[in-house]
Amino acid sequence: MTMLTDKQAGVAGAEAGSRARLNRNRVLVLALIAVLALLPVLPTPEFWITLGNYIGLYSIVAIGLVLLTGVGGMTSFGQAAFVGLGAYSTAYLTTQFGLSPWFGLLVGLVITMASAYVIGLITMRMSGHYLPLATIAWGLSLFFVFGNLEFLGKYDGISGIPVLSLFGIELQSGRAMFYLIWAVVLLAVLAMQNLLNSRPGRAIRALKGGGVMAEAMGVNTAWMKVVIFVVAAILACVSGFLYAHLQRAVNPTPFGLNYGIEYLFMAVVGGVGHVWGAVLGAGILTILKDVLQGVLPRLLGADGNFEIIVFGVLLVLLLQYARDGIWPFLRRLVPSGPPVLAPGQAAGLAVRQKPDAGELILDVRAARKQFGGLVAVNDVSFQVRAGEIIGLIGPNGAGKSTTFNLVTGVLPVSGGEVRYRGEVISGLPSREIVKRGIGRTFQHVHLLPTMTVLENVAIGAHLRGDFRAQGGVCAAILRMNKAEEEKLLFEAKRQLERVGLADCMYMEAGSLALGQQRILEIARALCCDPALLLLDEPAAGLRYKEKQALAELLRKLRGEGMSVLLVEHDMDFVMNLTDRLVVMEFGSRIAEGVPEEVQKNPAVLEAYLGGVE
Ligand code: ADP
Ligand code: MG
Repeated sequence: MTMLTDKQAGVAGAEAGSRARLNRNRVLVLALIAVLALLPVLPTPEFWITLGNYIGLYSIVAIGLVLLTGVGGMTSFGQAAFVGLGAYSTAYLTTQFGLSPWFGLLVGLVITMASAYVIGLITMRMSGHYLPLATIAWGLSLFFVFGNLEFLGKYDGISGIPVLSLFGIELQSGRAMFYLIWAVVLLAVLAMQNLLNSRPGRAIRALKGGGVMAEAMGVNTAWMKVVIFVVAAILACVSGFLYAHLQRAVNPTPFGLNYGIEYLFMAVVGGVGHVWGAVLGAGILTILKDVLQGVLPRLLGADGNFEIIVFGVLLVLLLQYARDGIWPFLRRLVPSGPPVLAPGQAAGLAVRQKPDAGELILDVRAARKQFGGLVAVNDVSFQVRAGEIIGLIGPNGAGKSTTFNLVTGVLPVSGGEVRYRGEVISGLPSREIVKRGIGRTFQHVHLLPTMTVLENVAIGAHLRGDFRAQGGVCAAILRMNKAEEEKLLFEAKRQLERVGLADCMYMEAGSLALGQQRILEIARALCCDPALLLLDEPAAGLRYKEKQALAELLRKLRGEGMSVLLVEHDMDFVMNLTDRLVVMEFGSRIAEGVPEEVQKNPAVLEAYLGGVE
């Protein structure tokens, strides 16, 4: 007889629920495939098939935008230009040289990837409005290139594009193309879902919100942005290729900025953070546009693209009342959830060689940070030895968090240096510092509220996968990363058990109490396999019992050789736990020593306790 504790039963219940949702989702997808398969063979009016084809083509582009804009947080108005590259490449090569369309696709993909890579490298480092502006410039310029090149037929474009043939079957009719287009849509959805539920996918999902946390977990955020820009461009290119062979003619119009805006609109309407939302948005907008183009000119008694006005109003309403688009509303009707990610029973990940007890591991030498005229950290020096818990205390605004940011490379030092195990690390980006073994949490928690606790913690293991640290995208898309996923999620689960959050594993991180979110961050930092752990106010928001459990955990970690640098306001907690204290006030170190001494230090009493005897 097996006995389950309440907690185990809770997790088992969550796993079963998740599996049930997964099965329901499978049934829904199968139903969709059945409908799609039947539409062309039933006496469906030709007009519907055409509409379906366009919805499919637009969906493919919008799926890329969900990844880029919805998940990655980068707005691109330039996707139509990549569609154009795909369409013109095959159009030109097949009509001028009689080459196979599939060769045309290959060339289109190479050109698209190369141009997206270059544009990505230049623009993905831009912040704020510059990226959207740059994509507008790109979209506009390519439109005029298509329209002005003699060999591309200028504004008349290229006609006489041959029929696609696949496995010896000529895809002559719209009905035949329907199958190919929707097969690509489904594959694109699957590929994106695979990607998002992977190590690089979690890194991509961590890009939003500035990327400070992602970098601190070892993610090269600039590179990841280039990667998703290229992936989104590839999808657009494939859509353009299919479009060219459906229409059998191309001209610059559908690749202009207008369409770039419409693609973005589709992604936003459907649900910018959801892969299926792209298909929904493409469907809604294509049908709506068609209806409005018929109705509005009759209603207004004049010709013109009046649907643009309706779209504009719709967008304003949407941004006001349904920021996340329409998909989340639909999803509520069809309960779904995060797919089951099985932690597996994998052998643990490789661990780094830990320093010997007593080894000097962190040496902060006259570290300085100035924000304009404010000296937030004023030539502060202190050391941490392996196996010690050092408390960094001081009143609010003393410069403790800034000191953490200097040690972890979130901020560059204005002067002085930081050494870790003998190596100067000040000047390195934070992803290089975590690689060397310094894990951290944030005073203001940085987590992904809609992701499960387990997935959030797994981000900490970003550098410990099977693939190159910033790679593994193709493996993830092709689901060749199963072994890696099992290992990483197993590690995340192990760390959650260690910190006592295992029963919340499948909950959304945003639904945890703030104190638990801090504990989640500790588990995530432990996933980095650190030798030194920097915890910024980890006990804030915890209840007495939870604080005791945390102190117990930190003692246990110390026993295993971990070094901890701790910022904390709860004096009982600090005094009972730490080996030494460093006290800061107004950016300067005012005292250092064992807790009993520091407690009696008049300067500390004056500064920290406001002179209370
Ligand atoms: P603590 O963590 O000890 O409460 P902080 O390190 O957060 O203190 O802040 C120290 C001082 O530096 C404060 O006066 C704060 O306002 C200032 N400060 C912190 N970060 C920045 C920043 N990015 N820009 C300007 N001033 C900052
Ligand atoms: Mg602070």
